Amino acid sequence: MEIVSTHILDLLERHFGYKSFRPLQQEVIDHVLAGRDAVVLMPTGGGKSLCYQVPAMALDGLTVVVSPLIALMKDQVQALQGNGIPAAFLNSSLDFAEERLIHQQLRHGELKLLYVSPERLFQQGFLDQLDDMDVRLFAVDEAHCISSWGHSFRPEYKQLNVLKKRFPAVPVIALTATADRTVRSEIVTHLGLHDPRVFISSFDRPNLSLAVLPGQDRWKAIQRIMGRHAGKCGIIYCNSRASTEKLASKLQGIGIRAAYYHAKLDPLERSKVQDDFIQGKLHVICATIAFGMGIDKSDVRFVIHYNLPGTVEGYYQEIGRAGRDGKPAETILFYSYADVQTHMHFAEEIEDPRYKEVIIAKLDRMKEYAEAQVCRRTILLSYFSESTAEPCGNCDVCKDPPKFFDGTVLAQKALSAVVRSREQLSMSVLVDVLKGTRSHEVNDKGWDRIKTFGAGNDVSAFAWIMFIQQFIQLGLIEIAYIDHYHLKITRAGEAVLQGERPVRLVSPETIKERQERPKLRKDLVVAEPSPASMDLLAALKALRRTIATDLKKPAYIVFSDATLLDMAEKKPRNIYEFRLVNGVGDHKASQFGKAFLKAIAESEAGNAG
Ligand code: ADP
Ligand code: ZN
Repeated sequence: MEIVSTHILDLLERHFGYKSFRPLQQEVIDHVLAGRDAVVLMPTGGGKSLCYQVPAMALDGLTVVVSPLIALMKDQVQALQGNGIPAAFLNSSLDFAEERLIHQQLRHGELKLLYVSPERLFQQGFLDQLDDMDVRLFAVDEAHCISSWGHSFRPEYKQLNVLKKRFPAVPVIALTATADRTVRSEIVTHLGLHDPRVFISSFDRPNLSLAVLPGQDRWKAIQRIMGRHAGKCGIIYCNSRASTEKLASKLQGIGIRAAYYHAKLDPLERSKVQDDFIQGKLHVICATIAFGMGIDKSDVRFVIHYNLPGTVEGYYQEIGRAGRDGKPAETILFYSYADVQTHMHFAEEIEDPRYKEVIIAKLDRMKEYAEAQVCRRTILLSYFSESTAEPCGNCDVCKDPPKFFDGTVLAQKALSAVVRSREQLSMSVLVDVLKGTRSHEVNDKGWDRIKTFGAGNDVSAFAWIMFIQQFIQLGLIEIAYIDHYHLKITRAGEAVLQGERPVRLVSPETIKERQERPKLRKDLVVAEPSPASMDLLAALKALRRTIATDLKKPAYIVFSDATLLDMAEKKPRNIYEFRLVNGVGDHKASQFGKAFLKAIAESEAGNAG
């Protein structure tokens, strides 16, 4: 075993330029090289690809990677080729000549890695063709696509058990960033894995701070956040195309280099926005979920969710795009019941009752996170079956623990209004009634005649919304999604109304404090790089852009941000020192070493003179 391990470390260094493995990578690689099946769960950015790419380099013959996302396939293959590794992909985007070339390379055994789309794999005769090749490993990427209940179900994935049937001796490694317990067992069953080992790496990303803010007055809160991150890059996820466009233009209005990104943008424009963001020409992207897949940008300093996502998996994947460099990054979720209602509205239209149930259960878990009065990280990690010993100290609840007070009388006022309206009030109208506001609907329906009209005038509308949300969380009232979202009193609510049960509430001050004074955890504050190395970094980035343009490749194929940063810190003086930079393997050292060493020497000379 020891011999194998030294050998794979050597492969990691030579081909990928990395000096050590990330947690679990080595264990997975050893297991796969022993010819066994594996399921790998790692958060986005955890380093899943190397779990099959290193074995591919260690084994003779071919590794076949099944991947559902055409764009990702191309990125991965380009990155491999950038490291001098013979790799190719087969999917619907290729023309005839390109296909022919790849088939030729396959026949001659010239490729180490072949990426295929699932459709492609099942196309007439393709599996027969694989029979004739020396396939040594199958990797199934984004393996959660096998689950019919997930948001990214791919029917072809269900047929992938054919791999184990036709190639029983070839190990299969399934990888995903999003899998709860059920999905995990679906992966094992549907792929027909033989006695697989399931590797679960920690999903914890301690450098990401977590916070939830009320959905009221988001724009003011966003301006405050922008103030904290002037000149830094971030993503704002919205649930509609219209809001991405509106928000981007508002941000531009206050002088921020912002743009929007959504599925209806034409492909050229989309890739321009993406490139400009990667290169730091754009600072803030307002996007629908279509943005961020496979983007390798390490210095995203904040991810904001303008709306509530529908699932914890999706949410976790999106915030995972922040702080990939390991430095502190901020994540903020705006929470409003209007968003819950939007999700419920879609859920109600689902016909399959089992599917509907799953969707609602997933939304409930997301709400649980948003409404938490305990450490939010604990909730996130428990979703991925990971338990934490203590509160994280880097979420808003840990930093500003809730202050409770006796809210029995407040609850009774609200519940009484609910009952007196014969349960015909929606949340916003209930606030109007309690505040004594003569809104359109109040006048229309005559709610001003209710005895409790104006009984809560001494409490602000903001505070009432915070309280009513808590009444819902405490199970005193329910939202009737199928009856115009009207509020209904529950048994527990009746007990409160009759004075049989006290109600403890979190004060709105707690929430205000979290909104206004986000605190940084001291041990996560890192020194900014010195101005001199910032200059060098800028020079290295410029050089990378020139080279990338010449090669007609995306910049990160030359070197990633993390590699350039390491280079700016290490300031190598010769090719041996250059090889020590993280992310510089043999191939790139010989291809780009000279140019980068020259740039570093020039910048050093400039500083000395
Ligand atoms: P995932 O597929 O899990 O989201 P990737 O495989 O794309 O993650 O890896 C994320 C980033 O981390 C990539 O830029 C990759 O090159 C880098 N990476 C992976 N493993 C290592 C390692 N052992 N050392 C340094 N960087 C690594
Ligand atoms: Zn916490």
